Amino acid sequence: MRSPACVACGTATNQGDRWFDHLWRCRHCTLVFADLEAYPDTDRQYRESFFRGDAYRDYVDDRETLQRNLRRHLARIRQYRPSGRMFEIGCAYGFFLDLAKEFWQVEGIDISATAADYARRILGVDAFSGDFLAHPIEAGTIDVFCLWDTLEHLRRPDLYVEKMARCLRPAGIVCLTTGDVRSLNARFRGRKWRLIIPPTHLYYFSRNSLAALFARYGMTLVSSRYVGYHRRVSSMIHQIPGLSRLSADNVHFRRLTEAVGKRDLYVNLFDILFVVAMKPAERQLLGRGTPR
Ligand SMILES: [Zn+2]
Repeated sequence: MRSPACVACGTATNQGDRWFDHLWRCRHCTLVFADLEAYPDTDRQYRESFFRGDAYRDYVDDRETLQRNLRRHLARIRQYRPSGRMFEIGCAYGFFLDLAKEFWQVEGIDISATAADYARRILGVDAFSGDFLAHPIEAGTIDVFCLWDTLEHLRRPDLYVEKMARCLRPAGIVCLTTGDVRSLNARFRGRKWRLIIPPTHLYYFSRNSLAALFARYGMTLVSSRYVGYHRRVSSMIHQIPGLSRLSADNVHFRRLTEAVGKRDLYVNLFDILFVVAMKPAERQLLGRGTPR
């Protein structure tokens, strides 16, 4: 089998870097990544059932809970860029853009046509469906890019970071959330860590590998912290196979889950990172081109 190079730091792997199944681990920056040859057609999974039944119980029905989390992201971004032009990659049904439009001029893109269509028609936000890499954006025009739990799904996250770095204004930022494969929880759980789900997640980042990836395109990590999430109880049950089976088979358990299902729980397992990466300011960019 071919040994792929690490997309974060560029280090070539060898057979000793195989982690398990179809996953590799970069010995230099710790990036864990799936072998793309073993998973050739990963985009097909983002049809409607991804948001209703597969990865999510019912994405649209969970809007209130999802927006509670997104409001916290929004408050964090405002500490860096309180206004300007924002572009969200993987905007799904537009729930974040719907909140962010109060402060920024917003646009987004999602691979799911159903989701982007909902965002446009129901929420009235500028959402496109398609491939970000093929989407025309003028260089140096965006203040904030956002990717919520998206980077780990992409086949070529390096090409996304390259394009974002190009499209950002000087001192513009990328804000994203993703799992941390070097967190205590991930290291303790090993291959059983809840976020290891190839081919849905193809990349497993850490502070180290994210810093390496952004550094390749001249950007710097300026903040990284663990964040918790509000989750609907019914959605948590959906993701635990034993409990969702019990809920389907047992009428008493089903009544119980229906009674508590609409409640939210706040969960922080300290394994999801909220990261801010920044493009150099104009004077730094000039400084690079004109040595004195
Ligand atoms: Zn690496």
